[in-house]
Amino acid sequence: MDSAAALEDVDENIARVCRIARRERDDVNLIAVSKTHPADAIEPLLAAGHRLFGENRVQEAADKWPALRERYDGVELHLIGQLQSNKAEDAAALFDVIHSLDRPSLLKALAKAYDKLGKRVPCFVQVDVGEEEQKGGCAIADLPELLARAKEADIPLLGLMCIPPADKEPAPFFALLGELARRHEPEPGAWGLSMGMSADFETAIMLGATHIRVGSALFGARG
Ligand SMILES: *Cc1c(COP(=O)(O)O)cnc(C)c1O
Repeated sequence: MDSAAALEDVDENIARVCRIARRERDDVNLIAVSKTHPADAIEPLLAAGHRLFGENRVQEAADKWPALRERYDGVELHLIGQLQSNKAEDAAALFDVIHSLDRPSLLKALAKAYDKLGKRVPCFVQVDVGEEEQKGGCAIADLPELLARAKEADIPLLGLMCIPPADKEPAPFFALLGELARRHEPEPGAWGLSMGMSADFETAIMLGATHIRVGSALFGARG
């Protein structure tokens, strides 16, 4: 199956789950995660009209996307991977949304880059819901402090993001992320939830995901 056919399949699935969840289809954004896939593999999705993409490495995105953006209008590029503070400026220049704000040092680096570039890229705060440090994410106990600092530094926040442990049932972690968002969002319904990947996006939508990050279901397995 090519990626354009896979996109139709995934889209139908999203619509079906939205009907069950009594949610509006437009409230769920499908981020096509194109990491490791070359421009050739991405183009069928662009040609089919898809415009929302995710990458997990700044350098890889910088190599692939400027040329694609010249050929297709309206591309929105999201950084979904861990971000080193020394790449904050490159990330701010290249991406439209950052999903991996997770610590004060990165927050500082982003604020500095935003001031320099005159551009404030909105962020999701990544939460370490599974207490797995190697995946990044802010510890739940540190979340209030990080959110307060983001406000001080005038970093626009879109909501919370998580990657649940691969070997556990994801639903409780998705529910927890939703609970944390409701507790901390500035007003009811203000925040989105970036959660759900190829294997579990239906569950994530049932539990309120607004941004699902889907790679292998669209592009096939990564080599
Ligand atoms: C790779 C990746 C995805 C997509 O994973 P699939 O299982 O291929 O859908 C989603 N989120 C993050 C943070 C990723 O790194």
